[in-house]
Amino acid sequence: MFDSLSDKLDNALHVLKGHGQITEVNVAETLKEVRRALVDADVNYKIAKDFTNTVKEKALGQDVLTALKPGQMMVKLVKDELTQLMGGEAEGINLSGDPSVILMSGLQGSGKTTFSGKLANFLKNKKTKKPLLVACDVYRPAAINQLHVVGEQVGVEVFSDEGNQDPVAISKAAIAHAKQNGHNVVIIDTAGRLAVDEAMMTEISNIHEAIQPHETLFVVDSMTGQDAVNTAKTFNERLNFDGVILTKLDGDTRGGAAISIKSVVNKPIKFIGTGEKMDALDVFYPDRMADRILGMGDVVSLVERAQEQYDEEEARKLQKKIAKNQFGFDDFLKQLQQIKKMGSMKDLMGMIPGAGKMLKDVDIDDDAFKGIEAIIHSMTPEERSNPKVINSSRKKRISKGSGTSVQEVNQLLKQFNQMGKMMKMMQGGGGQKMMQMMKG
Ligand code: GDP
Repeated sequence: MFDSLSDKLDNALHVLKGHGQITEVNVAETLKEVRRALVDADVNYKIAKDFTNTVKEKALGQDVLTALKPGQMMVKLVKDELTQLMGGEAEGINLSGDPSVILMSGLQGSGKTTFSGKLANFLKNKKTKKPLLVACDVYRPAAINQLHVVGEQVGVEVFSDEGNQDPVAISKAAIAHAKQNGHNVVIIDTAGRLAVDEAMMTEISNIHEAIQPHETLFVVDSMTGQDAVNTAKTFNERLNFDGVILTKLDGDTRGGAAISIKSVVNKPIKFIGTGEKMDALDVFYPDRMADRILGMGDVVSLVERAQEQYDEEEARKLQKKIAKNQFGFDDFLKQLQQIKKMGSMKDLMGMIPGAGKMLKDVDIDDDAFKGIEAIIHSMTPEERSNPKVINSSRKKRISKGSGTSVQEVNQLLKQFNQMGKMMKMMQGGGGQKMMQMMKG
């Protein structure tokens, strides 16, 4: 995400690193590079210029009283200003209605249907929400099917009325259906439309007028840069939407749309899409995004993702097993699957400060655990729960079955064994023992 922008900003800010003091000359030099980086990222020239002017004023206004070095101070000023530009605070969506009605709008292919599914999934996981997805694209039967597929994937009901050509009527019927069936959120996926298509723009205005949604969202592909910003502007003039959803950030190396959309339409970015899978969705936090753009990682989001996957009851069961020495390969496999649910490895790595930059050119295999999983899958249930029985002939069989070498099987068994010992120690108030072991 935003790799090329991050690189250029990093280079720009490096200029000041060697200087002991902030002067007009070195500030101007640095900010010229920052501005160039922003323009290259497809940020509108005027926005980029205003941005650097503000940072310049602040930088020169600072006495050198600060404990920060000039380079660090400039990074901080740029970070703060980027955060402001992207909206300052995170803004959630309005879920106060019963049901709360959310209307999607945007160009075809922007990611509306995918996002509708992701949002339904996101809300469903909050336990207190029971969403209903509504197919309102009356022009393409395939679009209705696509929403059904998405709904099935996330386990959310989809309301559709194939053949009905009136999206206003469908939306109203869907809201009535939601009320009757205890759905407290209604997510309406509409047909993609161009801002210049007058008939289609009137159609969405009519839906908007008729159902008075609690939240109207504009979905846009971040990879389209300035075009995304311009389209947002025209849609906003017609719909006065409440927020922006930026999709496909995973493929966006430049970041121009993310940086400038808020200042152009004065509406916050609420969520970002970071992949095709249903869990590739993040709340948009301007400050965390600024950190990521500047290569400072995003530990807070990383921890939050881990917490989302944390299941207290499972954890308790696991603890008991460890205490009784019953932690087996099946439990191990479950743990691996939990880690995988947190997102793609590259994405996770990008949240660790410094790691994103370091690993930028490394191809991180999302199937890093594939070999391990294959080995475990080739074990019998007995072997999984009691690995001690795995003798050399069994090892041969397992390696054959999993397409790995005996050496790899051995290595996994050894690691598993060590892990078991470690866990046991952590359990039995053995912190001290462990310290001793580490020292020794
Ligand atoms: P719609 O026409 O606006 O409903 O767009 P779709 O939801 O059908 O999405 C268009 C294409 O973009 C599909 O192939 C999606 O899988 C893909 N897509 C949507 N969101 C994302 C995202 O955040 N990242 C990536 N990489 N692809 C996405």
